[in-house]
Order: sequence, then C-alpha cells, then structure tokens
Amino acid sequence: MSVQTATSSSIKTVNPATNKIEKQFDAMSDEQIEAILARADGAFAQWKKVPFSQRAELLHKVAAIMREQKEALGKLCTIEMGKLLSEGIGEVLLCADIFDYYADNGEAFLADKPLDTPLGSAFLSYAPIGVLLSVQPWNFPFYQITRSAAPNIMAGNTMVLKHASNVPQCAAIMEQIFAQAGVPAGVYTNLFVPGSKVSALIGDKRIKGVSLTGSESAGSSFAAEAGKYVKKSTLELGGSDAFVVLADADLDLAVKTAALGRLWNAGQVCVSPKRIIVLESVAQAFISKARAIYETIRIGDPLDAATQLAPLSSEKAAQEIIAQVETAVKQGAKLVYGGHRLDRPGAYMEPTILTDIKPGTAAYAEEIFGPVLCIYAVKDEAAAIALANDSVFGLGGTVFGADTAKAVAVARQIDTGMVYINHTTGIAPELPFGGTKNSGYGREQSPAGIHEFVNEKLIRITTPDAPY
Ligand code: NAP
Repeated sequence: MSVQTATSSSIKTVNPATNKIEKQFDAMSDEQIEAILARADGAFAQWKKVPFSQRAELLHKVAAIMREQKEALGKLCTIEMGKLLSEGIGEVLLCADIFDYYADNGEAFLADKPLDTPLGSAFLSYAPIGVLLSVQPWNFPFYQITRSAAPNIMAGNTMVLKHASNVPQCAAIMEQIFAQAGVPAGVYTNLFVPGSKVSALIGDKRIKGVSLTGSESAGSSFAAEAGKYVKKSTLELGGSDAFVVLADADLDLAVKTAALGRLWNAGQVCVSPKRIIVLESVAQAFISKARAIYETIRIGDPLDAATQLAPLSSEKAAQEIIAQVETAVKQGAKLVYGGHRLDRPGAYMEPTILTDIKPGTAAYAEEIFGPVLCIYAVKDEAAAIALANDSVFGLGGTVFGADTAKAVAVARQIDTGMVYINHTTGIAPELPFGGTKNSGYGREQSPAGIHEFVNEKLIRITTPDAPY
C-alpha cells in the first residue's frame, strides 16, 4: 500500500465537512492482489485447525484494542465519512461487543448438532469453507467490517475485505488492529481495489464465499457473478423502513423517536425510519411536532459535541439527496421543512420533511439515503400495513403503539426481516440483522451470522439395528 499525492485514485479520504482531500491510496496491482489471495488461502489451511479457544482469545484482543482506541477510531470515521464523533465512538464500542460475542459463543454455535432419526445416529457438523470476499459500504466503516469478519473468522474462515473507496483509512487500520492482536497474517487482509476488480475476485478459485452490503444495483450484479461461479453469497442491501404509528401510540414519543431516529448517521442508515405512516386523524399534529424538532436541530462540525446533524458522506451524496427532494416536489410532494444545502463548505443539508408523496412517484419507490423524513397519512390500520408493504424493500421496520400485543400482531403482517416495537430498527450482537425482498438475503449477527459460510455436513453412523 502506498500513499500518494496524485489525484487519479478513487481510493481516498475526502473530508465531507470541508470537501478537502486528506489522503489518497494507490489501487493494488494484480501482483499484489495475487499475493494477498495466495496468503489468505495458505492461512486458511492453518487457521481452520486453530482451536476455538485460541481464536476466541485473539478476537477478544481485537475487541480490547478497539475499546482502547475508540476516540481515534471514532474520529477516523468522522473525517472519512462525516458522522458525529459520538456516533463514531459508539460504533467502535458496538464492534468490540460483536467481537466479544462471537469469541464467547462461537464454539457453542458451531458445536455438533445431533439429529433425531430412526436410522441410528446422525449429527450435523460445521466446518469453515475457506477464503471469503467481503465487500462493504462506508456508512458504518468499522461496524460493517465487524459484523462480517467477527463470525466468519471465529468460524475458521479467512477473509479479504474490499471496503468502500471513501473510507480507506478505516479499512487500513482494521487490518493493523488484527495484526496488533496477534491474528496470523493472511487471516484478515484489506484489499485496495476499485469496484471494477470485484468480478475477477469472485471468479478466483480460492474465494469460496462472497458477501456484499450496499446498494441494490451493486448487489444484483455481485450475486449474478457469484451465481455464475456457483458460490455461496449473502446480500445486505438497501431499505425503506416503514415506521407505523398506531392509534394508541404516545404521539410525542413516536414523533421524537421517528424524527431524531431519521437523523442518526445523517439519515444514511439502511434501517433508518424512512417512511413514517400515521393515521389521518393525527397526521397534522405529527407533522407540526416533527417540524418543531427539526427547527431546533444544530447542524455543523461533526467533531463538535454540540452538533446534532452531521454532513452527508460526500458532496455527491448531498447533491443526490437534494435532487431526490427536488424531484419529489416536482412530482407533487409537499416540502414542509428544509430541503436545501447549507451556505458553507462541506456536504451539509438541512433536515427535511416531505408529505403528500403519491404512489407512482420516485420518492414513493426509492430509498432516500439522507436526513429526509417522509410522512404518509392513511385512513386506518389496514391501509398502514398495505402501505408499509408496498415497497420493493424488506429490511426493517417499526410499529409504535401502547398495546404491545396489538403492535406485535401488526408487526407479523409487515413483510421485512426485522420489526421493532416502539423503537427504530436497532442493532445488537445477539439479534439477527438482514432483510427479505430486494433488501437481500442471509443474516449477520446472532447465531445465524456464523452459520452462513460454514459447511453444514451430515454425518450418519449406521447402527446394527438400523432399518437400512
Ligand atoms: P454501493 O455503491 O453499492 O457500495 C457498497 C460497496 O460495494 C462499496 O465497497 C463499493 O465500492 C462496492 N461496489 C459498488 N458497485 C459495485 C459492483 N458493481 N460490484 C461490486 N462491488 C461494488 O453502496 P452505497 O450506495 O455506497 O451504500 C449505501 C447503500 O448500502 C444503501 O442502499 C444502504 O441502504 C445500503 N446498506 C445496506 C445495509 C444492510 O445491512 N442491509 C447496511 C448499510 C448500507 P466503491 O466504494 O469502490 O464503489
């Protein structure tokens, strides 16, 4: 890896708070990539034999280093993709918890599983499969790596990571953390490659499984390529989470949860509450209360502890979100608040509220990956559920209501991978994360996350009394 001053590379840190280039990296040559794949493959032959207890010890060290360096790592997130420093530090601590979780539980999750059969004795065993390719987005620079790396490395696989081109320093430092913890060379390696190199990587015979978190379009071409080579893939793609407010909900709490939840990570969260669905009877009150909250939001330097809304991840992202808002308005939506850039350098935009979005328009169908609260008014609960499900996406969602049994009954009818009651879709090491429909397939975190890239092998022992 070499740092250079030329402006040709797309792999670079551009601070979104200033739009200034801070650091650039060369894309790796074919020879460098070949050496990395050979080393990852060689490392697998050894790593799969390392006892769980030793793998666990090393992952606990990764967790400890992340906790120790939480301020520096959090600041790197802020500088590379703009998030609030407090959010960056919180993200790093969550990563440490995920490493600890798989270190503590990985062996039990992958223990042999006896099967009940009249044919004698049979069980499932779980074996790692080899080198995995993980392609990750920038919005949670450390968390995205962690939820892919922690379970799979604990399972005995090795991994090469292609991170988003705008967070190269986070990508590079993660490899250093693994090395510092004593994880053998080749078990986890960062690749500085452009998206155009990913197809060739998927086709490489040493890569045994592939995983992408990112946009629907990237996921679709990635999975098609994996299918061509008959490789196991998982996809964590976009989302347009519904936030359904039932008639008995505490309105003030619902407004606050939705409005502030939408500003987390400047709205650049796959499971952000992107479509707020309220009953017509309370819609005006909900909109006024949300507007009142957004009028008080302090936008500014993400390193300043007083700032509540950070810039978007890049100038391009800010322009795209503004364009989506403008198109929405041209297509008949009402701009209740915000919708503009800030008159200062950096990828800043106002928190924004849109209402009156009609089916058939772009804003109704697309994911808006920024601080834009889209509020829909419906006549009753059935219409709320129908609207929540009228999306190609199926990632997360929220149901807000005082009667939790009733809220759960509504949650069961929402066609997504996750529904949270009285909370925006959240994250915890022990809870599975993933979607359905065009939001992808496969699960990360929880026991499910460690089972995606292992060979679930049946072993049957024939006994003398077995019928055949
Ligand atoms: P993106 O453009 O798809 O990029 C994600 C990653 O894929 C980056 O590393 C990118 O590399 C790479 N990439 C882009 N095009 C590719 C291709 N054709 N083949 C292989 N790799 C490719 O995603 P984004 O728009 O930056 O990220 C935001 C999206 O991610 C949103 O839709 C969001 O909802 C989704 N997301 C989903 C989850 C989830 O868990 N479901 C979590 C976070 C984000 P380069 O940077 O070099 O282009």
